[in-house]
Amino acid sequence: MKEIRLASRPSGWPTAENFEVAEIPVPEAGPGQVLVRNVYMSVDPYMRGRMNDVKSYIPPFQIGQPLDGGAIGEVVASGSESVPVGSFVVHGLGWREFAVIGADKVRVVDPAAAPTLSAYLGLLGMTGLTAWVGLLDIARFTEGDTVFVSGAAGAVGSVVGQIARLRGAERVIGSAGSAEKARHLVDELGFDAAFNYKEAPVRDQLKAAAPDGVDVYFDNVGGDHLEAAIASMNKFGRIAMCGAIAQYNEAAPPAAPRNLASAIGKEINLRGFIVGNHSARMPEFVAEVGGWLREGKITARETVVDGIENAPDAFLGLLRGDNIGKMVVKVG
Ligand code: NDP
Repeated sequence: MKEIRLASRPSGWPTAENFEVAEIPVPEAGPGQVLVRNVYMSVDPYMRGRMNDVKSYIPPFQIGQPLDGGAIGEVVASGSESVPVGSFVVHGLGWREFAVIGADKVRVVDPAAAPTLSAYLGLLGMTGLTAWVGLLDIARFTEGDTVFVSGAAGAVGSVVGQIARLRGAERVIGSAGSAEKARHLVDELGFDAAFNYKEAPVRDQLKAAAPDGVDVYFDNVGGDHLEAAIASMNKFGRIAMCGAIAQYNEAAPPAAPRNLASAIGKEINLRGFIVGNHSARMPEFVAEVGGWLREGKITARETVVDGIENAPDAFLGLLRGDNIGKMVVKVG
């Protein structure tokens, strides 16, 4: 079987040379373990941070060792009665065709309850939960709020905008990195306005799209997006600090936001969060968003790359913005 390993650590933008494909025997499941044949694996921006040798909320990848991350697959051998052969499970050992993992470390899911298995890595998985928790619990969204979300055509951002709309936002505004993505937000996902941040300064485009200001900003990007959002925030605005992808591949930290201190006068509540610390909200999240999915009220576009050997390319493409919606890799 194939697995993808970290070959070397990047400085700045990663390249294909930082990864290697290794061929190893399929491992065997021991007592209390399951052998999973991965069907889809997730590539996520946080994996860029794990390529650096720095201490963070999650340990770095090790050179010469396989990478890991979210995946969904079918149990093909089991040493556990609670997770029998034929179960479909979400787990944390992606970047490989087969994985052996403790039965207590997998989440059994119902393939019939989702349009595709990959939805459990996106809309009904980690990125969907991030959107839901970040908007509702962290930014404390309420009906009538005007919401701005950056990275809006991506996995998290596209769900943030749709939840805000379904929960009665006054106005939903998104930013993304191409005219095509901006059109997708308005035409297919029901955003009220969207702009291409590469076309003109974010600050000017946001002011035009949100003439009455912003109550909730969901930050996926950081830098000049965060600075522009602070400038457009209304009094008592709330910002969920979810990610800062604009700086993940930069060697030096960016200058913006230069106006962070104005959060004081506006009494803005800026709050960071890590979705892994909010997994207790999963059942309620799946009940609400799963219902919208069955009723056809929410959509989850995905960008699917075929073949585990192309997983590094999928990851590099994600960092460049090649994806609309969740980027996943079809393993087998
Ligand atoms: P996406 O599906 O949004 O993919 C990443 C996107 O980032 C690309 O498609 C690209 O779109 C955009 N991007 C890349 N570089 C830049 C840049 N310089 N400026 C603006 N946008 C850029 O990924 P996710 O939805 O999985 O993640 C979105 C954010 O949420 C990330 O910051 C991630 O780290 C964070 N996150 C945080 C979690 C938490 O627990 N706090 C959990 C999950 C994700 P474009 O074409 O629009 O540039």
